[in-house]
Amino acid sequence: MIEPFRYEPKPGRVIFGAGRIAEVGKAVEELGGKRALVLSTAGHESLADDVVKRLGSLAAGKFAGAIMHTPVETTDKAMRCVRESEADCIIAIGGGSSIGLGKAIALRSDLPQIAIPTTYAGSEMTDILGETKEGAKTTLRSPKVLPETVIYDVDLTLGLPPRISAASGMNAIAHGVEALYAPDRNPVVSLMAEEGIRALAAGLPTIVSSPADIEARMLAQYGAWLCGTCLGAVAMALHHKLCHVLGGSFNLPHAETHMVMLPYTAAYNAGAAAGAMSKVAQSLGAEDAVYGLYELKRRLVGPLSLRDLGMPRDGIERAAQAACANPYPNPRPLELDGMRQLIADAFAGGPPS
Ligand code: NAD
Repeated sequence: MIEPFRYEPKPGRVIFGAGRIAEVGKAVEELGGKRALVLSTAGHESLADDVVKRLGSLAAGKFAGAIMHTPVETTDKAMRCVRESEADCIIAIGGGSSIGLGKAIALRSDLPQIAIPTTYAGSEMTDILGETKEGAKTTLRSPKVLPETVIYDVDLTLGLPPRISAASGMNAIAHGVEALYAPDRNPVVSLMAEEGIRALAAGLPTIVSSPADIEARMLAQYGAWLCGTCLGAVAMALHHKLCHVLGGSFNLPHAETHMVMLPYTAAYNAGAAAGAMSKVAQSLGAEDAVYGLYELKRRLVGPLSLRDLGMPRDGIERAAQAACANPYPNPRPLELDGMRQLIADAFAGGPPS
């Protein structure tokens, strides 16, 4: 039976394929831009330099100071650069850190944005912005922060190390898994989630063994686009909220925390979301969603447990309490005992109980 639904696609142009970064100048012109400011992290300034070179007279300059979790102090500095360079559009190249800075600038200036992602985090497809001020992270939604154009060029991902690729790809799969049991799910987004999980699960193991395999990279980037679209379209639940609590409480890395947690959050919800889990299993080509996710994680490279990420054992109780403090819609209600078990399992890193 088809359940009642509401579907609101978000605007945006997506340009996908090898070598498509060559069209960055055309993308600026399509947005009516004449002076683009290019953003990157300091570690990947060469990506920004390459875009500036390609833009020629359409470049207003670069700001290579993006930082993870978008601190407002960094955004203030970048805003000065926007004003001084008289930029009329923003190009963010890199992972979620660069793209977050582009969104923070767009929120304050309403300038149009082009996002050129080089990881699988999916931020480029959402109207969500997370910012940090004095150590506290807040999240908001605004149509102003959704990039107008996204360029997915597989060539830019070939150098992404296997460890980062694996964690980032599992981060993307998590968007798809939660979309399938979201209270506001709809048939289009569910199709995207299934196809996105399938593509990522097919691409990631090959990427780990052969990082420059272009077919596998394309599958992963295609899956990241689909799963990022899911993240922007429907409400996320336990998995994303718990990763947020764990990351904030113990200063854990974003993508790696998602990678560690996914089989355990899926196990917590499995009994209450049987339909969604059977779709996840099918997309993974596994008999069971929870063990399919656990096995996929083990076939990749990276941390397997919260202990591997450096969380202290005595953090389990604190995290369980914090996770249950502010309830939200989730297939299975948030229960303290269950949460303790989930976090203890993820701390140990063995098969989910
Ligand atoms: P990131 O941008 O910090 O990149 C992760 C790692 O990949 C870094 O070490 C970076 O140096 C490396 N990297 C990136 N591109 C590379 C390349 N081309 N070659 C080699 N290495 C490269 O982090 P992320 O995992 O992409 O994103 C996480 C951030 O994005 C977090 O702050 C998270 O909160 C945010 N995020 C936001 C949303 C949203 O919708 N607002 C969605 C997902 C993630």
